[in-house]
Amino acid sequence: MRIREELEQIRKKGLYRSTRLIGGRQSTRVLLDGREVLMLCSNNYLGLADHPALSRAATAATERYGTSSGASRLVSGTMELHQQLEAGVASFKQTGAGLAFNSGYCANTGIIAALAGRGDVIFSDRLNHASIVDGALLSGARLVRYPHCDHGALERLLAKHRGTGRCLIVSDGVFSMDGDIAPLRELVSLKKAHDALLMVDDAHGSGVLGSNGRGCAELLAVMGDVDIHMGTFGKALGSFGAYAAISAELRELLVNRARSFIFSTSLPPAVLAASLAALELVRSPEGRELRERLSANTSLFKRLLNDAGFSTGNATTQIVPIMCGDAEVTMRFSEQLLENGIFVQGIRPPTVPAGACRLRCTVMATHTQEELTWAAERITVVARRLGVI
Ligand SMILES: *Cc1c(COP(=O)(O)O)cnc(C)c1O
Repeated sequence: MRIREELEQIRKKGLYRSTRLIGGRQSTRVLLDGREVLMLCSNNYLGLADHPALSRAATAATERYGTSSGASRLVSGTMELHQQLEAGVASFKQTGAGLAFNSGYCANTGIIAALAGRGDVIFSDRLNHASIVDGALLSGARLVRYPHCDHGALERLLAKHRGTGRCLIVSDGVFSMDGDIAPLRELVSLKKAHDALLMVDDAHGSGVLGSNGRGCAELLAVMGDVDIHMGTFGKALGSFGAYAAISAELRELLVNRARSFIFSTSLPPAVLAASLAALELVRSPEGRELRERLSANTSLFKRLLNDAGFSTGNATTQIVPIMCGDAEVTMRFSEQLLENGIFVQGIRPPTVPAGACRLRCTVMATHTQEELTWAAERITVVARRLGVI
């Protein structure tokens, strides 16, 4: 097929995507095509992406260490900041070791393909992030997808597909398009009963959930029972990159086997220093205060939407989906909200199943309650006009 025809087909299906140009900083208000709008679709949940402590740390690290790490760490070496960040990750997640990756996507593809291969079985929640699915496909292991958060079904599948090789259960901690939380306690008992490894991708929970911001596993009191805590620095932590918090032994294996670690230039000093500053902030009294504000903002926004008659699915976190159904209505909804000064994305297949299109709203600690109340009102007016409610 010609490229132009392929693009035409994407357009015809209503699945065409393009990016928007933002001027200035990523904050609660952004300049979109020169106009100031309310940001309601960023994963910068704690507002750290424009926190002065992170910018200062990044600038100082650049002055001191330069702009690049020069190569993969197995080639040009581990810089002091890599080591400090990994120690920080291990202490944050209370594990024996940490390993930095260049992004969450790189972490998931690298870790999963390193831990599983032919003869092994990977059990993955049906709504897991695309990078988990890609890691599983890359690994060559057998991929068994279980119904969303259905631990009963997982138990039956574990019994049925019990292989002779390694068995890996992988789940998002907070599901990125639904805002609900995985049943980690049940997954822990299943992994114990079936002698499996448990990996939790807490890209959206880290920094946000649990009394110290350690994530879903802290919230559900299973910190010590997760074999691989994967998390990212690009969301609540306001920086970039990702990590695995693991045992020292698993770290050794990943250094030797994870291709995204081995064959890619490592994170640069500015990013490492910003991530370190973010970890410190998350664990400080200011971090606690930001989490409390995020939680209060989320409750307010969800209550306003639910009172207006919207379905927000099973969301219990700062990710608040507004269910719309159809792709076309969803995209019109998002366009009209933008005309009203609200930036929120419509989510369509293949990110979510057909018929489950939604606006994915994300609340930030740094939104004011006035901004969220105003947004809920505008959203309600537009939705009535479109017949969504
Ligand atoms: C965003 C996300 C990733 C990818 O992380 P990046 O650092 O953005 O590459 C992985 N898993 C989940 C659940 C995510 O939401």
